[in-house]
Amino acid sequence: MTVYNFNPGPATLPSVVLEQAQAALVDWQNLGISILEVSHRSPEFKALADASVQDLRELLAIPQSYKILFLPGGGRSQFAMVPLNLLGKKNRADYLDTGIWSRIAGAEGTRYGHIHWVASNKEQPGVIPPPESWNTHPEAAYFHYVDNETIEGVEFPYIPPITSVPLVADMSSNFLSRTFPITSFGLIYAAAQKNAGPAGITVVILHESLLGKALPMTPSMFNYTLHAHAHSLYNTALTFNWFVTHLVFKWIQQQGGVAALEKINQRKSAKLYAYIDQSSLYENSVDPRYRSRMNVVFHLTAPQLEPKFLHAASDERLLGLKGHTLVGGLRASLYNALPEAGVDKLIEFMKEFERVN
Ligand code: PMP
Repeated sequence: MTVYNFNPGPATLPSVVLEQAQAALVDWQNLGISILEVSHRSPEFKALADASVQDLRELLAIPQSYKILFLPGGGRSQFAMVPLNLLGKKNRADYLDTGIWSRIAGAEGTRYGHIHWVASNKEQPGVIPPPESWNTHPEAAYFHYVDNETIEGVEFPYIPPITSVPLVADMSSNFLSRTFPITSFGLIYAAAQKNAGPAGITVVILHESLLGKALPMTPSMFNYTLHAHAHSLYNTALTFNWFVTHLVFKWIQQQGGVAALEKINQRKSAKLYAYIDQSSLYENSVDPRYRSRMNVVFHLTAPQLEPKFLHAASDERLLGLKGHTLVGGLRASLYNALPEAGVDKLIEFMKEFERVN
């Protein structure tokens, strides 16, 4: 039986990518050694690094004025790197609170400067506060928000209209799932383990004008400028993770690019939400305008049945459907590599579970 993996991250990867990674574990590029054993300073790895930057530039139409970095430390390191590198003399930044990851990012920022919350959806978790209500600070160095809240399943349907300061986005859980104009942003970052590759490696895309402003206390490893000058080979890079991430970029090219996947992603989430909305057993409480196409968060109107649901789903080889421990309930993560057939099978399963319960 085909396994469908709905995990939120680490998450499902294209099977062809896994096969290519498996072959490279034994012998990469006929070098007679594994990708795990190749020097990050070798010409072969340097070529891979350059190609991955080039491929991502093409996938997202990123102009040369933006640097593309592949960094260790996951999404959470960015919660520190962003303020350390961007706060500058202003020492103040605007943060928008749309969920748990927004709050964690802002809390980390308070270690280095003043974090000014422009608005919060704490009272109404399924809604994004409208831009007219954002109370921005005149002295903020940048504006930070989370484009897709992985835990609550809340996603921006528009780009925040911020033009006076660099706009900074955490796109960890919707990166490469849709096209967007990078020129609206000063910086975006994405932990790879959802749409782009294995856990640990993080893609950062930043405008070159933001370099050279790190606070004096910034650890060298957290300094974008050092990483940019070294083409992300400042320390011993995450060679294997980077290699797999590049394979995912190639896979996206073969699917017709990000715009082609965007259409499929739209269809996949729309049919699951449509089913949930007409059902009396399943419920999603996010305002339809802000429903995530990546993380469909739902619960049972009879919550005592949830363990049974998860058990029966697992018997059908539908894995990873448990909600985040902080919010409970259920969550189906529908990243790029989760085939549409997986969503169809999940809906069939949910129907049958509803019928017999
Ligand atoms: N931001 C978002 C939106 C996330 O979903 C996550 C992880 N789920 C993180 C940041 C943190 O990433 P990491 O675990 O790689 O530090």
